[in-house]
Amino acid sequence: MDDLKQLSAEEIVALIKAGKVRNKELTDAEICPTCFNKENNGVLFGDDTDKTFYEDDKFTCFLVGNPRAEGHAAISTKKHFKDMMEIDDKTCEEIFVLAKKAMNVIREVYKSESVYLCTMCDGPMNHFHLQLIPRFSFEERGSDNFVKPRQDYKEDKEKIKLLREKMK
Ligand SMILES: [Zn+2]
Repeated sequence: MDDLKQLSAEEIVALIKAGKVRNKELTDAEICPTCFNKENNGVLFGDDTDKTFYEDDKFTCFLVGNPRAEGHAAISTKKHFKDMMEIDDKTCEEIFVLAKKAMNVIREVYKSESVYLCTMCDGPMNHFHLQLIPRFSFEERGSDNFVKPRQDYKEDKEKIKLLREKMK
């Protein structure tokens, strides 16, 4: 799929719908999967409105669709930045203040002992985001928490409601 960048958005959408292209191929072709998804009605990741618990003009906080723990969330900039090394200082400041708030709220709502933060946007193209991963009392402390196995997303409407209320 070296020629992906030569195709129109419509042609790429058709390939995604046919299961021939995933986010990895877009990244390799230097097309941002997050922005492509947003510009094309959630064709890659689906509609995540039900998982979103905070939004303003610059940032979105949402529960991830393949979590490593209950309450695993991500904070993403609305504007495209490839990775953290590319963001301006003001955005850097704002996203970390927001992350601090979200981490406290997640710890409270999910009753975890701690919440870990990481960012590792990599590859020819990516979209800057922070990941917040709860660590529960029954789990050991340490970096293994960053690579806990992915789970199926289970919707908990009550917890999402609480997250939204506390993030206001
Ligand atoms: Zn992007």
